[in-house]
Amino acid sequence: MKLSERIDNLAVSATLEVATKAADLRREGIDVLGFGAGEPDFGTPDNIKTAGKRAIDEGHTGYAKPASGIPEAREAVCEKFRRDNGLNYRPEQTIITVGGKEALSLAFGALLDPGDEVLLPVPYWVSFSEQIKLWGGKVVPLYPDPAGDLRLTPGKIVDAITPRTRVLVFNSPSNPGGFAYSPDDVRELAEALSGKDITVLSDEMYDRLRYGDHREHLSFAAVSDEWFEKTITFNAASKTHSMTGWRIGYAAGPLHVIKAMAKLQSHTTSGTAHFIQHALVEALTGDQSHVEMMRSEFERRGKHMWERLNTIQGLSCHQPTGAFYCFPDATAAYQQTGEHGSMAFCKHVLDHAHVALVPGIAFGSDKHVRLSFANSMDYIDAGLDRIETLLGKKK
Ligand code: PMP
Repeated sequence: MKLSERIDNLAVSATLEVATKAADLRREGIDVLGFGAGEPDFGTPDNIKTAGKRAIDEGHTGYAKPASGIPEAREAVCEKFRRDNGLNYRPEQTIITVGGKEALSLAFGALLDPGDEVLLPVPYWVSFSEQIKLWGGKVVPLYPDPAGDLRLTPGKIVDAITPRTRVLVFNSPSNPGGFAYSPDDVRELAEALSGKDITVLSDEMYDRLRYGDHREHLSFAAVSDEWFEKTITFNAASKTHSMTGWRIGYAAGPLHVIKAMAKLQSHTTSGTAHFIQHALVEALTGDQSHVEMMRSEFERRGKHMWERLNTIQGLSCHQPTGAFYCFPDATAAYQQTGEHGSMAFCKHVLDHAHVALVPGIAFGSDKHVRLSFANSMDYIDAGLDRIETLLGKKK
């Protein structure tokens, strides 16, 4: 049976190869330590679970009306954006989605015509590039300066704009990079792009997971009235509230774009489950103490993982300032092990140290590998011990 060109053009996830190999080894009885998971290792907080169960018991099990979000959930999203991000959206400017992933896909679907260009900073979260292609857009990767850190300079972005440019994807804090743009960085970028006819998709899934001196988060839409009008802001309960499996996310932006996204959603998923939207209300407006508990724990683990990675031969890593990933440059380790590129290196580490890392090629950056620190301290140390034994300690 012939498959569509659209599907043939999608990359098979580069993360899958390593994950499949890891699963094979585990089946053989080998104890593999995995650092791939992009999700908190904490359970969903009890108050949120209770709200979800109560919503089922109260009979909120039919279609959500409207599909794009029940009024209570949209109000809660407005409250979150007001409280945490200084953004004053009206409920009709918001949409509730099947995870953050659906919100992003709906936005690309609502905005892109065939051949429209999307500026995508490298390294990027793996689904951005494939969603853009699915919706007919053209990915324009923007590579960071090899001499600097992974943040892009405004000049780099402005120079890439052509008459076909429609969208800039901005993801801070970054998955997979583990870095975050400072409020000044965001202002500078917004200033440089001022007057350009582009829409910013600002993925702020990790806005409350920022560390050290980089705690302050400035939303792109909060920079000015101009950018409030030209930005769509994306978030989800997945990371902040440890709800990855609940599949609930949300976005807010200009009314006509949100309406277009809702139209598309009404013909595809009909939105996320009704009772889960009640759990979202509790997640966003109930007790927030779990967020700081997780954030401070991730901060501790991220610092520890970063410090240890930098003592291992062949690896060099920036200190994570957001999200829950270390993203070391491993090019020296490729040489040391005689491997070419991140995929071959990750297979080597899996075969010889029984540790599963994610190859940077999945994120457009073959020089790097990604390790999640959403694992316990003991688990992190056990994995790093194995990598250290394989590669050696720096002298
Ligand atoms: N954006 C980024 C940057 C992410 O890291 C993720 C999750 N890995 C998503 C979007 C999608 O989140 P969700 O699980 O809520 O669909």
